[in-house]
Amino acid sequence: MGKNIKIIGSGFSSLAAACYLAQNGNEVTVFEKNESIGGRARQLKRQGFTFDMGPSWYWMPDVFERFFGDFNKKPSDYYELIKLSPAYRVYYGIEDFIAIADNLEEIINTFEKIEKGSGKVLAQFMAEAKSNYNIAIKDLVYRPGVSPLELITTETALKVGQFLSNISKDVRKKFKNERLIQILEFPVLFLGAKPSDTPSFYNFMNYADFGMGTWHPKTGMYDVVKGMESLALELGVQFEINSNIEKIIVENKKAVALQINGNRIDADIILSGADYHHTETLLDPEYRAYSEKYWESKTFAPSSLLFYVGFNKKIENISHHALFFDVDFNQHAKDIYDEPKWPENPLFYANFPSITDKTAAPEGMESGFFLIPLAPGIEDTPELREAYFEKIISRFEALTNQNIKENIIFKESFCKLDFEEVYNSYKGNAYGMANTLLQTAFLRPKLKSKKIENMYFTGQLTVPGPGVPPALISGKLVAELIEKNL
Ligand SMILES: Cc1cc2nc3c(=O)[nH]c(=O)nc-3n(C[C@H](O)[C@H](O)[C@H](O)COP(=O)(O)OP(=O)(O)OC[C@H]3O[C@@H](n4cnc5c(N)ncnc54)[C@H](O)[C@@H]3O)c2cc1C
Repeated sequence: MGKNIKIIGSGFSSLAAACYLAQNGNEVTVFEKNESIGGRARQLKRQGFTFDMGPSWYWMPDVFERFFGDFNKKPSDYYELIKLSPAYRVYYGIEDFIAIADNLEEIINTFEKIEKGSGKVLAQFMAEAKSNYNIAIKDLVYRPGVSPLELITTETALKVGQFLSNISKDVRKKFKNERLIQILEFPVLFLGAKPSDTPSFYNFMNYADFGMGTWHPKTGMYDVVKGMESLALELGVQFEINSNIEKIIVENKKAVALQINGNRIDADIILSGADYHHTETLLDPEYRAYSEKYWESKTFAPSSLLFYVGFNKKIENISHHALFFDVDFNQHAKDIYDEPKWPENPLFYANFPSITDKTAAPEGMESGFFLIPLAPGIEDTPELREAYFEKIISRFEALTNQNIKENIIFKESFCKLDFEEVYNSYKGNAYGMANTLLQTAFLRPKLKSKKIENMYFTGQLTVPGPGVPPALISGKLVAELIEKNL
């Protein structure tokens, strides 16, 4: 008989888990503290503009196909995808940028033009990256992180050297041009750590980038949330928004109920897709599996300073996604990971969804999203936010050769303190715990509580790690583990 399963949080991992658990005949309810579902992928709507508040790069379309395929559906049953062309631009100076095409052949030509001989090297690098993608994303990440043996296969045994070297070293061995090196190091930033702390094997992210392309759901990433919500509702999942979980009640070493507004809600199984550290604080100290010292010792993905900006005109000389790498990449990385402080000259990323999606801004206007990665736990004040907006918007104007400051109708910021308050995020991290060698698979916080029965976890602090595709996989893994243990 189906179990009564209560899920904390409504991010992608919780939504995925809810679908699988409901498909297996369980009675599933999702409780979200905020007024809308989707976790970090929530939407912001202001004066006719719509922003995706978090994720904006739709990578690894095969993972989404596999998710919907598990329910005999396709992503296209719920949303339409557009392949971006160019995928993105990387700026290095005033109107000086490299556009990354939507196909590998053209990208190889671009490389060759910048560094003689690098086209052929890139083709070989991508063949290896594709092979790693097939091993990692089609197989390894679908293992539950229970045992080190999960990582030992005939294929990984042949690639052991790639776990001992790192992306930064590997890319520098093959390419000399600093711009090409930065482009190849960029995708692993999604995994939350420095390229020099990320094993070479993770170059599968380069295949996700150049090999599979950058996609955009027709009216934004929130289309995916709505698609998953529709599927969940079809399967009988119930949603309760504005429902902050205050406590997880444990009796006889079993998680038995949630507390909301002082009321007790019983459950056979409790699953949390909220920040793992926060979830443990909902348990009495003796039932927590990881100490504060443990969390303190881990490498977390960066926090971020974000701006959602409405412009009353179209922005020129720009593409849907743009990276501003006109300053020292290594210095900014040091300011995030080694000696945490606000970077003097920050790298930043911007996207303008209204270039692709006419519903994102009123006619003739543009919606802009700006992101500066920052160290988790950093000081966050209104003055710092404002000073950094001024820094990046001035640089943006110079690099794209136009004036836009006077065309700002409104801007909203979101930073470390908001990540903590809105998502209960540990140190205000933006996207979870990084995937370094020592924070991979069985070395990550576990899907099942080590201290109490009937308590499970999913999401970006457990396996497989940060990002939307891993969140879908995490939901599947935990649902399988719950079914196995019933
Ligand atoms: C700015 C930004 C940009 C990003 N860009 C990309 C990108 O381009 N591509 C990509 O693939 N990934 C990207 N990511 C990462 C990706 O968004 C996340 O890894 C993923 O969405 C995490 O999903 P999750 O289910 O683990 O957690 P979350 O989305 O954090 O969901 C957890 C939910 O739990 C809720 N919650 C917390 N505490 C409680 C409580 N006590 N009671 C009830 N509910 C609670 C929270 O409100 C939240 O809704 C980005 C993230 C950010 C922040």
